[in-house]
Amino acid sequence: MSESEFDIIKTYFSSIGNTKDWLITGVGDDAAILKPIPNQQQLIAIDTLNTGIHFLPETSAIDIGYKSLAVNISDIAAMAGQPLWFTLSISLPEVDHDWLKGFADGLTDIANQFGLNLIGGDTTRGPLSITIQIAGVVPEGKALTRSGAQLNDDIYVTGYLGDAAAGLKLLQQNKKIYSQVERQLLNRLHRPTPRVNIGLSLRGVATSCIDISDGLAADLGHILESSHLGAELEREHLPFSGSLQQSGFALERQYEFAIYGGDDYELCFTAPQSMRDILDDISKQTSCQISRIGRIIHDRGLFLVDKTEKKTISKTGFDHFLSS
Ligand code: ADP
Ligand code: MG
Repeated sequence: MSESEFDIIKTYFSSIGNTKDWLITGVGDDAAILKPIPNQQQLIAIDTLNTGIHFLPETSAIDIGYKSLAVNISDIAAMAGQPLWFTLSISLPEVDHDWLKGFADGLTDIANQFGLNLIGGDTTRGPLSITIQIAGVVPEGKALTRSGAQLNDDIYVTGYLGDAAAGLKLLQQNKKIYSQVERQLLNRLHRPTPRVNIGLSLRGVATSCIDISDGLAADLGHILESSHLGAELEREHLPFSGSLQQSGFALERQYEFAIYGGDDYELCFTAPQSMRDILDDISKQTSCQISRIGRIIHDRGLFLVDKTEKKTISKTGFDHFLSS
């Protein structure tokens, strides 16, 4: 380790998170020391964000810091877990203190919101790449998986769909100035909200759950594959934010964003019809919209229904949707 690496770690990455009784030693030794938490199962996930692929080169350091951790927290939320700690492996093309400060600020902001500790990592030189490993806990047997959906379950999503994809489309248009509505969409792209509280409330309520990183069709598709079932979505019940509705994108475009656009990091889950009242309460308690968007059916496949027709939609991409 070179002196500058040591300084970077000490200055930016050595004190994210406060004292915890399960954390004996964090950043600063050859490995972190953790005490196991009785009766809890561990959840571990890891995600890498590369420049040019997961974020555009012009994305601000603070947003990169924020989002890198947010997408990992979202994975723990989708398992109904309580996130506890993360490690950070970062490759940097150069030592740019403004960039590092912004990145650490974004990371610290979201780490503090969810009470997470940064317990270790690795710092190297190379094209910008950020890998975060996250851990959470869940009481034994309470984790929500993709494989638990049952015939006739309702299908739900939290929040709104399509905002992040609309934000990405705006970025790709290379505009110089954004309206307030457009800035709200960009904010949803850069600063997704991990639904940890909802995930925790879904223990014993939902039968399956996933977070929407690749788009509703693709991610609900994973639940359907794992559960060996199909789904019918009701077009009129897909939730659109006010921002998306006012964005000026054509309605068909909005549906494409909602069904195929990634990066919303909302939860998609299934629950028996008997849970409808409980889910209304969870929505109120968490101040988060929860929309019932369809149901699990026996026929394998994903269908979109409206008043006049029922059409098959692809679980993977735009093409079938556009041509049907
Ligand atoms: P080693 O040479 O033993 O791998 P490192 O120089 O890689 O040591 O790391 C020194 C300490 O700093 C370790 O505790 C490691 O976990 C921590 N660390 C290194 N990089 C980061 C980072 N980006 N974020 C958090 N902790 C880090
Ligand atoms: Mg190392």
